[in-house]
Amino acid sequence: MFVAADKDGNRVFIEDAVKGTEYFCPVCGRGVIIKAKESLAVAQHFAHKKGECCSDKWHYDMSEWHRNWQNWFPKECRERVVENNGVKHRADVLINGTVIVFQHSHISPQEIAERNKFYIESGCKVVWVFDANKSGIGSIKNKSGGTIDLLCCGEEDLCWERKKKEFSIKMPENVKVYLEYKTTDLIETQEREEDGILLLTRKVEPKQITFYKTDEHIHCLNFLKEYGAPINGEVLSVTEIIQKTIAHQFNQRPQVGQVTIQLKPVRIVTKIVRRPYSRGRRGL
Ligand SMILES: [Zn+2]
Repeated sequence: MFVAADKDGNRVFIEDAVKGTEYFCPVCGRGVIIKAKESLAVAQHFAHKKGECCSDKWHYDMSEWHRNWQNWFPKECRERVVENNGVKHRADVLINGTVIVFQHSHISPQEIAERNKFYIESGCKVVWVFDANKSGIGSIKNKSGGTIDLLCCGEEDLCWERKKKEFSIKMPENVKVYLEYKTTDLIETQEREEDGILLLTRKVEPKQITFYKTDEHIHCLNFLKEYGAPINGEVLSVTEIIQKTIAHQFNQRPQVGQVTIQLKPVRIVTKIVRRPYSRGRRGL
């Protein structure tokens, strides 16, 4: 966890934690310690003391990827405790009634379903962002190894480069799933910086992913605007990108009478390459 409580119940972020001060788990109230100060694999975080367990049995990512995403959101939205019928869990981000879960490491379909159920029953919408990169749940790439161009790709153009475990999600209403991957070709700078792109999916099955094909790639900023994080400059939200794509498709067709055009999803058939499961990076 990146947020603990002090003895007065105030929220304390890990970066503000002072060694030797007592901090407590916001879910179960037990004491926690500062952990992973020197680790490169995981971000510094609070953890329960050795041998002590928490009433919250869920596993939470403690990766830098996870933390970087969380840090885009206002502090008051990060790691909020959601309670339903006396059961408490920590939401990575809770903003405008939407819980956003950032998932860097593998998670089973059962765990995903359990979290969806809990948050939906608590009255929240749920958004998942998966780290679809090499160090995350597995990366997506062109079969030829080239950069992914979502506007041109067709079925079977994309595949999982590396896949640790079977990955599928059942998406009930009020749940959205994005897969984040990195590309270098979109930025025409000499440095060729890596850029994060988000795929808004319609269906995620073990061998098949269906996602929305849009006129523009969904960048981090589009995502942040969609879900209410403060950003500067004129940026389209995900919804606006989708509406623009629909309007574009509509304008390309001769208009005869009343025509309704639906945004066509792109289907990706994945090839699963099984590799030995490397050491996990789960948190607590
Ligand atoms: Zn606890």
